[in-house]
Amino acid sequence: MTNLSRRLLACALTASLAFAAGAPAWAGEAAPNRMAAQGVDASPARAKNIILFLADAGGVSTLNAASLMAYGEPLKLHIQQWPHLGLSETSPVDQFVSDSANGMSSIMTGVKTRNGVISQTPDAVRGRQDGAPAKTLLEYAEERGLRTGVISSQSIADATPAATYAHSNDRAKWGEIFPQAFTPRFGDGVDVLFGAGRQKIGEQLAAKGSSFEALSQTHDRPIYARLDEAPASNTRPVVVGDQMDVRAATLRALDLLQAAPEGYLLVVEWDAHTDDARKGLQNIADFDRLIAEVEGRVDLSDTLLLFTADHSFGLQVDGGRRGEPVLEGYDAWKAAGSDEDIVRLENVLVNRTHTAEEVPALAIGAGADGVRGYFPNTRLFHVMMEAWGWGAADHPTR
Ligand SMILES: [Zn+2]
Repeated sequence: MTNLSRRLLACALTASLAFAAGAPAWAGEAAPNRMAAQGVDASPARAKNIILFLADAGGVSTLNAASLMAYGEPLKLHIQQWPHLGLSETSPVDQFVSDSANGMSSIMTGVKTRNGVISQTPDAVRGRQDGAPAKTLLEYAEERGLRTGVISSQSIADATPAATYAHSNDRAKWGEIFPQAFTPRFGDGVDVLFGAGRQKIGEQLAAKGSSFEALSQTHDRPIYARLDEAPASNTRPVVVGDQMDVRAATLRALDLLQAAPEGYLLVVEWDAHTDDARKGLQNIADFDRLIAEVEGRVDLSDTLLLFTADHSFGLQVDGGRRGEPVLEGYDAWKAAGSDEDIVRLENVLVNRTHTAEEVPALAIGAGADGVRGYFPNTRLFHVMMEAWGWGAADHPTR
């Protein structure tokens, strides 16, 4: 059988099975569209599990530079071998350049909003007036009985992780954001929550008359300060540390979530801002190695792996030779302790700010076919919903 006839047969089988099973109204319409656009490396359309890897500020040029720094050559990152690539546009409703709050909220809810706003509709006024809560992918997953996990190298109340489990008119309101992990609107809330930011979250809780201890007692859910403090018997652990070992956290979360027969959503954020070029690029290289390790532990026939960024960043490689370090001049810059906005290294120019151009969306596994072409970042919400088979009729934000 040729690849084409095998694919057509698979399409026919999928379609007839869908109708036989009393599929929702959208199935007959959505399935053929998806199949028509599949390439020869077509992935299974349906995912049971989704893992979203979010490199904060990890734009195209940052991935390029990370490969050059870590491997001395372009295209050496593991994720640069994935078969499905799109370019995701990140702007908020009223500006060209996004922050993490709007960027991640758009991906998680399918609704573009304003900078500073956490998963609320764009009528929100930052710090002053709420918009309506925009239902997040994590909330859909919880509502449907899936297990969920959120991990961050940064504060677990900071904009990117917050946009998965909270709704707020201001990303700075950590004392209001963090407790929402314990008062879910759907299901029993985030099952596995591992991140940093303990001191500052604690201070903001105190300013609201609360504390980690009070939250723990009220919700009968301990909030540990270190990963190794959470006992193995705790299947819904919450750890808020001073810092977070993202690799250890991700592998632990995976063990817990993979034990769930109903499927899971895992969101992992790793900071990749290149204000400090070596630090940001090393984070990308480490994240990439972790992603390869995770890929080795999942079944791509029922799991979607998606990598993207919430916004891009002003780093560019504009010189250099193979065999020589791309970050030539970095040590001298670091030693000088300069805090200027423009960093001029030998081969690299860093404009230390977010930038507007599209960021990569890379995918492999079940439902990965939906990632292709240029699109607004809100499309990624629909790609993930449709990978689960939760079509347009089920999520009116489309
Ligand atoms: Zn960001």
